[in-house]
Amino acid sequence: MTAADFVIAGAGHNSLVTACYLAKAGYSCVVLDARPIPGGGCATEDILGPGYGIDTCSTGHTLILQNPLIRLDELGLVGKYGLSYLHPDPVAHVAMPDGEQVTMWLDLDATVAEIARYSQEDAESYARLIGEFDELRPLLGAARSGPIGMAPSMKDLLRDHPRGGIWMRRMAMSARDVILREFKSPHVRAFMGWMAFQTAVPIDQAGTGLLPYQITAPRQAKSWSIPKGGSGRLTDALVGFLSSHGAEFHYEAWVESLILDGNRCVGVRTRDGRDFRGSKGVVSTIHVKHLVDMAHKDAWGEDFLFGVDTYNVGVPFFATYLATSAPPVFETRHGPRSAVSAGYAGWIEDLVQSGRDIYDGRLSDDVAWLLVATPTLVDPSRAPDGHHTVKFLTHVVHDLPDAGPSGWEASKEALAERLIEVVRRFCPGFTDDKILARITKSPVDIEALNPHMIRGAAHGGDRSISFAGEQRPVPGWAQHRMPIPGLYQTGGTTHPGGSITGYPGRNAAMVMLKDLGEDLSRIMDV
Ligand SMILES: Cc1cc2nc3c(=O)[nH]c(=O)nc-3n(C[C@H](O)[C@H](O)[C@H](O)COP(=O)(O)OP(=O)(O)OC[C@H]3O[C@@H](n4cnc5c(N)ncnc54)[C@H](O)[C@@H]3O)c2cc1C
Repeated sequence: MTAADFVIAGAGHNSLVTACYLAKAGYSCVVLDARPIPGGGCATEDILGPGYGIDTCSTGHTLILQNPLIRLDELGLVGKYGLSYLHPDPVAHVAMPDGEQVTMWLDLDATVAEIARYSQEDAESYARLIGEFDELRPLLGAARSGPIGMAPSMKDLLRDHPRGGIWMRRMAMSARDVILREFKSPHVRAFMGWMAFQTAVPIDQAGTGLLPYQITAPRQAKSWSIPKGGSGRLTDALVGFLSSHGAEFHYEAWVESLILDGNRCVGVRTRDGRDFRGSKGVVSTIHVKHLVDMAHKDAWGEDFLFGVDTYNVGVPFFATYLATSAPPVFETRHGPRSAVSAGYAGWIEDLVQSGRDIYDGRLSDDVAWLLVATPTLVDPSRAPDGHHTVKFLTHVVHDLPDAGPSGWEASKEALAERLIEVVRRFCPGFTDDKILARITKSPVDIEALNPHMIRGAAHGGDRSISFAGEQRPVPGWAQHRMPIPGLYQTGGTTHPGGSITGYPGRNAAMVMLKDLGEDLSRIMDV
């Protein structure tokens, strides 16, 4: 049996962030993960052979740059532990069904000029949208970089804001409705829809109205920022911090149950029968749908169980990873273009329909949203000389309409081929001989790799109105304290949700340190 002050059950970037702040405050941590490596969806692995550093999940880290964790380098991840970021330009390049293609540049004027090719009015709307986000940025920052209940909510902040009513309405609207109101050209609408669908929440869901602002404006300011060397370099920095603060790590340690002493959580038991005890508590990043099976039903209470039962796990992901001898180069009227973050967008109606189809269990033959990530365009260290790593990402159903989840094994390569065909329409030079190796992961494979990505959904759950803010994961339990005393929850199932933001991790640490009677200002910038 291993003992520490805290057991960290699951080693995604969020729970590692929580552990780092606990360690900084002097508490000992033992970190467990089901996988053979730490980081969860923040990992770079050589799954296509030596020398190709493949981001098996996340590549873009834009959102975490606003977190005081990185912005103020509270843990020295940048200053001492080797983390650094690249800010690719162009920011994005998106092709549309009729062959038109939009490039977004770090220079706002250049992006506005690009949009003006389709509509002068839309170009002005885009510039206004980016400008308006400046008034929202500090409010969003304040609401996200503090736990529910401790930090003011967006509603509180907007109540006192001169244009609060406008933002409150936008917050409650859908991304689709905001885009249709602000933009008239089908091409610009498709481009903005592609942006808004990045967090994999269907864009017609109520409560997604800020996404066109929240996703686009930070990228316009800083690009789709990526860690130099791969997504896993963030994990390396967090593990480096923890190791130098005495933390202990156990991999291939699948947590199967919670150990309770009376009504208090005092540790976890792994599938292979090992016990790990935390004298002060347990931090979980286990999906809440799994967590509730790890202790007796009576320990949770009816409201928590109802909230978890009705929790929407979100849209499943499908990914194809390539090792190539050349990047995908888009042929455009203005010459060849390539971007670290490129892709394809159907018309806004197609994008809306694709989200609806997924929630209705239908798999359309048409690809409506595709991300093509080629980080080696700006970071050659991730592949052998002159070679590239390319990742295709789209959204699909977990249960195939006729064959169920088990049908994916036989059909996933056919979908991968379709994605390659879509890209080849715009990148004719991206021929088979450029593709040296390929691996495809269906939602079933993604879940098999990481049990937190339940049904292959990678963001810890849908983030529309029913599952956001104080509703996440369950009304009354959004403060990281779980119904079982001593058990804290972090990760994508907690506010403000998935993606590489570090907010759930830092917020959980704030709650825990407060419960421990610590002076937060000693440990972080509050
Ligand atoms: C293909 C793909 C591409 C993506 N691209 C991006 C992107 O570009 N940008 C972005 O921001 N996000 C992206 N994401 C989403 C992102 O990876 C996740 O939102 C993010 O990793 C969530 O972080 P987390 O810390 O909450 O949890 P996770 O990263 O999911 O980590 C949870 C950890 O807990 C462990 N765990 C779970 N259950 C148990 C258990 N019972 N016992 C032991 N260990 C357990 C898991 O093994 C895992 O290591 C992508 C996801 C996928 C799948």
